[in-house]
Amino acid sequence: MIPGKIPEKSAGTAEKKRFYRKRVNFFALINKIKLWPSRRGVLHGIQSIQIRGKTATIVTHCRKSFTVVESRNSRAARWLRNKWFAGACPQCNIPRWKQEKYSATYFRKRWGSQLKALD
Ligand SMILES: [Zn+2]
Repeated sequence: MIPGKIPEKSAGTAEKKRFYRKRVNFFALINKIKLWPSRRGVLHGIQSIQIRGKTATIVTHCRKSFTVVESRNSRAARWLRNKWFAGACPQCNIPRWKQEKYSATYFRKRWGSQLKALD
């Protein structure tokens, strides 16, 4: 889909804070928390994520595989930003601490300020 395009490095360590805030790397976030909210609001555990530029192929623990396009305005990004989920996937078996982390700590401590800046 994107021939010859070199994916940007998304480590983000060298980036200045105020710079970083404007461009939260959605995939970096996904890769970090390893959780994905489905269309119905079910939280899945991510087994692997392969990032290729603006798209990423995600495989969940319940063996679902799909490709997503990076977008801060996508449904998933919004769900993650707002920490919404309707329930956890029983097959993915997401540990409770992780669900709790999803709904609290991660965002407040690490990503909250950056994500809020998008609104
Ligand atoms: Zn699942």
